[in-house]
Amino acid sequence: MAMNKVQFQAGMSLSEFFEQFGTEQQCERSLEQARWPHGFVCPQCGGAHASQFSVGRTRYWQCSGCRHQTSLRSGTIFHSSKLPLRKWFQSMFLISQSKNQVSALELKRQLGVSWPTAWRVKQKLMQVMVEREAGRILQGDVVIDDAYLGGEHRGKAGRGSENKVPFVAAVELNEEGHPIFARFDLVDGFTKAAISRWAKQFLASDSHVASDGLNCFPAVTQSGAAHLPEVVGSGRCSIDMPCFAWINILLGNLKTSIAGTYHAFKFRKYGRRYLAERQYLFNRRFDMKAILPRLLHAGVATGPRTEAWLRSAEHSC
Ligand SMILES: [Zn+2]
Repeated sequence: MAMNKVQFQAGMSLSEFFEQFGTEQQCERSLEQARWPHGFVCPQCGGAHASQFSVGRTRYWQCSGCRHQTSLRSGTIFHSSKLPLRKWFQSMFLISQSKNQVSALELKRQLGVSWPTAWRVKQKLMQVMVEREAGRILQGDVVIDDAYLGGEHRGKAGRGSENKVPFVAAVELNEEGHPIFARFDLVDGFTKAAISRWAKQFLASDSHVASDGLNCFPAVTQSGAAHLPEVVGSGRCSIDMPCFAWINILLGNLKTSIAGTYHAFKFRKYGRRYLAERQYLFNRRFDMKAILPRLLHAGVATGPRTEAWLRSAEHSC
């Protein structure tokens, strides 16, 4: 099966990681390269010339044009973090190269850091993934399904369980029917209005959508997408059709990963980040070795995210 090639790829080995990112200096160089691949650029005025100085172990660049001072980390996801960069890189390595997701508790153990530090690192890196995946549009043949975090994929609807939240799972298939990209998005519920909003945001207007017979799914047509009537059955039985095989595998893996990795978290508040992490890693699964550098670049592009910001409900869901 095509999936095996993905599962058996080499990825980045532990020794490769330590060769490239084993010291603080190596990590600093990598961050500098990711941030300023063509040399210093002032975040304030765009100037290219600066003088450098250090305060303690922190290097600063002072723009020759506007005198603005910046460190390597300022203005990135690493902003104001006192954690050594090599620990950040170790976190990115563990998160990007593991088969299942890596919890904050596991990061705490593996990195030898406090729980609050591990929590912040994990939440910040997941937020990077949320923002990187936010604009991903699925196109062509897309299969969608309804699922719940904190509940059975097929079971009673979320009523009566506060920590059971609905999400849409969607996968774009290529001409051979193999999965290319996926999206996992929290929704208010499986209503026509919620599915219409989701489709307008994340589906290309020329996509062809297959779903089971749940009566909210035809609302995807409000985005301009076509809803394949031949797949729509009158009941749940249609999920056994071949085109649903991949989405069932994806949802099964997602559920195993989340259940096996995380004991409990506030699904409604933080579910979006956990789903985005899964989505980010799935959508880059063909080249695992490249995930760490890509995550580093994404972290540079993501602005500072404070703990208060990360904890606020407004930004969490
Ligand atoms: Zn400047």
